[in-house]
Amino acid sequence: MTTPTTEATPRSSRLLLRAGQLACCALVAWAGIYATSRMAPTTTDVAMLAVRAVDTDKSPLSAPLDAALEAAQAGLSQIEVRVERNDTLDRIFRRLELSLTDLANLRALEGVRTALDRLRPGDLLTLVHRGEELVGLERQLSLSQTLKIKRDEQAGFVANIEEIALERVPVSASGVIESSLFMAGMGAGLKDATTMQLAEIFRWDVDFMLDLRSGDSFRVIYEQLRHEGKTLGVGDILAAEFTNDGKTYRAVRYQHADGKADYYTPDGKNLRKAFLKSPVQFSRISSVFNPRRRHPVLNTIRAHKGVDYAAPQGTPVRAAGAGKVRFRGVKGGYGNVVEIEHQGQIVTRYGHLSRFAKGLASGGRVSQGDVIGYVGMTGLATGPHLHFEFVQRGVHMDPQVAIRRGEPGPPIADSIRADFLAQTEPLLARLDGPPPAVGHALAAR
Ligand SMILES: [Zn+2]
Repeated sequence: MTTPTTEATPRSSRLLLRAGQLACCALVAWAGIYATSRMAPTTTDVAMLAVRAVDTDKSPLSAPLDAALEAAQAGLSQIEVRVERNDTLDRIFRRLELSLTDLANLRALEGVRTALDRLRPGDLLTLVHRGEELVGLERQLSLSQTLKIKRDEQAGFVANIEEIALERVPVSASGVIESSLFMAGMGAGLKDATTMQLAEIFRWDVDFMLDLRSGDSFRVIYEQLRHEGKTLGVGDILAAEFTNDGKTYRAVRYQHADGKADYYTPDGKNLRKAFLKSPVQFSRISSVFNPRRRHPVLNTIRAHKGVDYAAPQGTPVRAAGAGKVRFRGVKGGYGNVVEIEHQGQIVTRYGHLSRFAKGLASGGRVSQGDVIGYVGMTGLATGPHLHFEFVQRGVHMDPQVAIRRGEPGPPIADSIRADFLAQTEPLLARLDGPPPAVGHALAAR
């Protein structure tokens, strides 16, 4: 999994980079494509060193070998813990036979409790202890922030969050797809998170599960996050071009005055459509919209009024568009079902869910892409899949057709067009420039 970008960087920063990738898991899981299998193997090799690599001070937590030796003489041990599924700090302390009184004191520190309690699988903790007594704890909160807690003989525990300034450097990359988007992204030196983002930007126009062709190509300008010359991670895509089956799409990122950013075509049309192309990351369409279908369970001719997306049990299901939850509960053959009311007298329906998203309630509002539930096979279903319906003014439509016709998001208003052009024209000029050499990200260092 080594890419041209990381090849030449020192070992410590490469590990950090991977630690940064772990933090991107949430994003990755959403954009989804191939993500889980790609991310998993990197967790173990990162576990041992990543946290230590950021430190420069002289604490036993962070210091290199000689100080570690000193620490050993003082009876201190250092453990790196990778957080597992369902882990809590309490469990970790019990497992390591560390003092629970120390844990209670840690958690009583101002502002620390949230940073400590919200553990995610794959997170790293570094603990320094002498017997059952905790001497220090360190956790990387983000690429730029590290929480450090030390025992102080006078004051008990003292915590602070160390922050480093990140420099955002635009770099470009390009690639041609032969086998998969991810292989092409890797060949161009892109982190999976950036490839993911590329697919997300164009997801309204290109179905990355079904439409990709060998020979499709992309160019992308994205931010690298650097500190003291070292690349620590990646930021946002600033501009991108994707050619699918001979048709070229372009996108530029524009940051509005309120700080929110969105992607537009070069002439200011919104890339976002009213409805997602599919509300779930599916493996195949197991049944299309069909007014005369033999029902697989009932074995009678019954209209199939939606699309079935086969996907593993537990795959997140997303609101296809923004709207109000009209129903959340059990309904006959649908099993666990969510219905969302949208503008234009449109209702979308999501059936056979294994469970609902936490906090989802009838009458609540959802944004496009919000998780509303998880794929299952409740009600009349022969296997786990999402049954998805699209109803306009009481009439069932073929979702795949209706969604394609959906209204786009708001374009760039005339009042901000000058600013839009000023922000985006330099990026487009760069996209038009000579193609970057292979492994360009490296050359730009
Ligand atoms: Zn169905």
